[in-house]
Amino acid sequence: MDHFQYKNRQLYCEEVPVAELAAKFGTPLFVYSQATLLHHLKEIQTAFAEANPIICYSVKTNGNIHLGRLMAEHGAGFDVTSGGELYRALKAGGDPKKFVFAGVGKTDDEIRYALEQGIMLFNVESEAELHNLADIAHSMGKVAPAALRVNPDLPPKTHVKTDTSVKGVKFGLDIETILEVAQGVINRPGISIVGLHMHLGSPILSADPYRMGAEKGVKLIEALRKQGHPIKYLNMGGGFGINYRKKEALPAKAFAEAILPAIRATGCQLVLEPGRFIVGNAGILLGRVLYLKESGGKHYIIQDAAMNDLIRPTLYDSFHRIWPVNPPEGVPAPPEDFEAEIPNTFKQNVVGPVCESGDFLAKDRALPMVKRGDLLAVFSAGAYGMAMSSNYNARVRAAEVLVTGDTFRLIRRRETYEDLVAAEVACTS
Ligand SMILES: *Cc1c(COP(=O)(O)O)cnc(C)c1O
Repeated sequence: MDHFQYKNRQLYCEEVPVAELAAKFGTPLFVYSQATLLHHLKEIQTAFAEANPIICYSVKTNGNIHLGRLMAEHGAGFDVTSGGELYRALKAGGDPKKFVFAGVGKTDDEIRYALEQGIMLFNVESEAELHNLADIAHSMGKVAPAALRVNPDLPPKTHVKTDTSVKGVKFGLDIETILEVAQGVINRPGISIVGLHMHLGSPILSADPYRMGAEKGVKLIEALRKQGHPIKYLNMGGGFGINYRKKEALPAKAFAEAILPAIRATGCQLVLEPGRFIVGNAGILLGRVLYLKESGGKHYIIQDAAMNDLIRPTLYDSFHRIWPVNPPEGVPAPPEDFEAEIPNTFKQNVVGPVCESGDFLAKDRALPMVKRGDLLAVFSAGAYGMAMSSNYNARVRAAEVLVTGDTFRLIRRRETYEDLVAAEVACTS
């Protein structure tokens, strides 16, 4: 469910026509629906209610502190992957007692920062990191609460760049050696292994990997407890898929059915790290058509949103639904299924102004005829959109607007040219 709907040939976000937002704030523009965001958080909370989970919203998915504040206000903790994300989560008003910190390359400074803040769990990804974490915590007179991140070695689930639990990836501890690693820190001061963590990949459109991962998790938790580790937390990560093309996503309930048996079997506190599921369909990216051109028999729509605003198509060959914001008479309503034949359309490439042939938002996409000045909406852009944006080609980063009901507010202003050089100007004496 989302709150981006067409009424009388106009795209609305909740009660606000998005064309008004583009006129007021310019393009490219990210527009978020608060109702959609909170609906998806609630869907997970409800599906897993039996386990009363700690839901750690994944900051890397969309780190805007105003969205983070909504997460915190509605009971979420935060999953952070860097010191910068920890700072963001704190700025958003998060409670560090509900923070988890993942990542294969935590620096000593980042570890100290997280220890000072008293976070709930470090998700530890290697033996070397585990020992370093213990040393640093011990030197600070603290005991670091750690969850071992296991790579459960499951069959491929998603794009090779986003699959994090097949053999040979950089993430987590191999399932074959994890017990040996855990054995090595029994009674070691500075560290307490209190959890098991896995994050399988993203986006995942089947519950099977979670079922398989959770089953392996139960066995590992039993073995870790046998070694003497007081395992209290099972963290099943994030990765729940969303609708990008049509209605392909599973409801949160399906993932709950796969995961909850492991909680019943172990009595652990469940932790989840969803990002995309919460914010993905709560955001769109608006671009305005600049030029149309034909080249080598291909039709190009050149508009002002580009790979630096949304890199997923370039990076992962991702599919985002795209449709005019104000479709003229004769243009069909946006289809339910973007892979089906769509009448009154022809194949076009939607590209941006960046000087790279990899700069595209859609290739060979069935779209109606548009003209200069028209607005295009790129749907499901709330996750890994703004978060992965850059200043490449010295493009200023887009603005972000949050809509609730018939009101809206700017939650990140468009950058300025001064912003682009500010860190360099700061170095001129
Ligand atoms: C990226 C990431 C997540 C969030 O993944 P989503 O697909 O956005 O839910 C959760 N946990 C870890 C460790 C991650 O790296």
